[in-house]
Parts: sequence; structure tokens; C-alpha cells
Amino acid sequence: MLKTAEIMKNACKSKVVIPAFNVPYLPMVEPVVKAVVDQDAFALVATARPEWFKFEAKGPVEVFQEFMKWENPAYVRIHLDHVPVIDEDGERVDYVATIRKALETGYPSVMVDASRLDLEGNIASTYEITELAHSFGAACEAELGAVMGHEAGPLPPYEEIFASGKGFTDVDECIRFVKESHCDWLSVAVGSIHGAISGAAKDAKKVEARLNIAHLKKLKEAAGNIPLVLHGGSGVKREYVLEGIQNGICKINIGAEIRQAYEQALRSTNDVSAAQQAVYERTVWVIKDYFEISGKRRLVNP
Ligand SMILES: [Zn+2]
Repeated sequence: MLKTAEIMKNACKSKVVIPAFNVPYLPMVEPVVKAVVDQDAFALVATARPEWFKFEAKGPVEVFQEFMKWENPAYVRIHLDHVPVIDEDGERVDYVATIRKALETGYPSVMVDASRLDLEGNIASTYEITELAHSFGAACEAELGAVMGHEAGPLPPYEEIFASGKGFTDVDECIRFVKESHCDWLSVAVGSIHGAISGAAKDAKKVEARLNIAHLKKLKEAAGNIPLVLHGGSGVKREYVLEGIQNGICKINIGAEIRQAYEQALRSTNDVSAAQQAVYERTVWVIKDYFEISGKRRLVNP
């Protein structure tokens, strides 16, 4: 059985993106896995720390247990998404203990998000977690630059962020970061934004984000053979997504797209199975129509 890290390398080589579907509600796991299998695609099921507290995923162990009910390693693997060193509300997190617990539980890949620290701090925390992950035979994703959106409070206007390139991953920092942190995958900021997770904004339709492809190309060169990851994949204009995949993006995180499908269906029907059906349909759409990876599983996980 190939490891997730090897599957990611295949994705980069064959330019078939791997979606990582976040599951802030445990009943979302079943329809996500079913959609991936039915579409003969390969994807990750991901859980992030904010989803344990601000939504109903409870914790990494609970998500892992739910995942194990539906697991199908030819098609899906589980991934620990965002464990921040400093969280979206500015609080320090005991990130090492959280990630260690997930690795002990059996997560084959994890993410440490130290992007709210300065460059030296980000490198040091990422190196620490990468070493830890590798001691479990797991892969470690890191983030460099500021993919905004998780913070409470209003975002600056999207056009302003995009035009100024504020928060975008710096090319020289990327070269140094990859060399010194030893991370396996790198989440870069090139125009996408995270779905809001607090207040009324979490129900609003996301802005249609774009990607700065010229900047992405420079980062791809700077990162060498480290697979690049795009967070905040929901709502990015499709032509940019497809061009991003051609230019080094190997994994794209999808959160808001399927979370909102679940919540809206649950609100209008008060029926979990109807909400699961909505998640199934939206996941199929992401795989088939948005990323065009139906039937391509064997290209990444032969
Ligand atoms: Zn993210």
C-alpha cells in the first residue's frame, strides 16, 4: 500500500489534484467517501482544529473513528489539517501534544500551521513537527504566507488583497523555508482565502477568488520537488484552479463548499440523511466538474 506522501508525488507528476475534504460534522464522512469511491477518484478526508471547537467534529480521535467505519485505502486517506501554533483568536495552542495524539491514533499525515509566527519561528515549529511526524512514518504539511479568512472580524476587500499581494508567500522565504524546515508539503498563499468559520460570515457565499499564476510558478520553482497545497479551495474561479494544478498545486482543501451544503440541507429538512445526500452531490460535483478527476484514481494510487 502506497503512503499518502507517495500518492501526493504521483499527483504532482501526473497533474491530477488531490482534494482534501474537511468534515466539520461527523456524518459528512460517509457521503464524502462514497462520492470519492463512486467517482473512482482519490481524496483525503481532513479534520482541522477549528472544526472541533467551532463546529461538531469533536476531535481528531472521533473523526478517526468515524473514518475507520468507511475507510477504503485505495480511494481515501485521513489527514490532520490545520493545527495552529497560534489560533485564529490569537491564543497559543498546545500544538505538539495535539499532533502527537493524532499521530499515535494513526494519522498518516498532519499539518502544523505556524504561519502566524515570524519566519524563524515558523521554520522552528515546522521542523519540530516534521521530525515528530517522520518518526511515525507520517508526512508533514506546513504553511508559509497568510491564507486569510479564519480570523474573526471583517476581511479587507478581496480585490485589495489580490492586487497588493499582501500575505502572499515570499519567493526567497520559500526557498529558505523548504530547505530548513524539511516539510513534506507546503501550503502557499497566492490569492485563495479560507472560508469564514465564525459569525454570520460562515454562512455567506464565499467571494470568487483568483490565483496569481505567475507568482505560483515562481514558488513552484523555489519549492523544488515539494508538493504545493492550496487552502481555501472553495470558491476559487475554476479556470484558475485548473491552471494552478498545471503549475504545481497537488492538493486543494475544500471546506466551505460541502459544509454549507450540509448545513443548508439540515436547516431546511431537519434530516441528517438529507444533509448527507447534499454532501454527496456536492462532493461529486467537486470531483467531476470542478477538478475533473473522475476515473483518475489509478494515476495517483495505482
Ligand atoms: Zn487551511
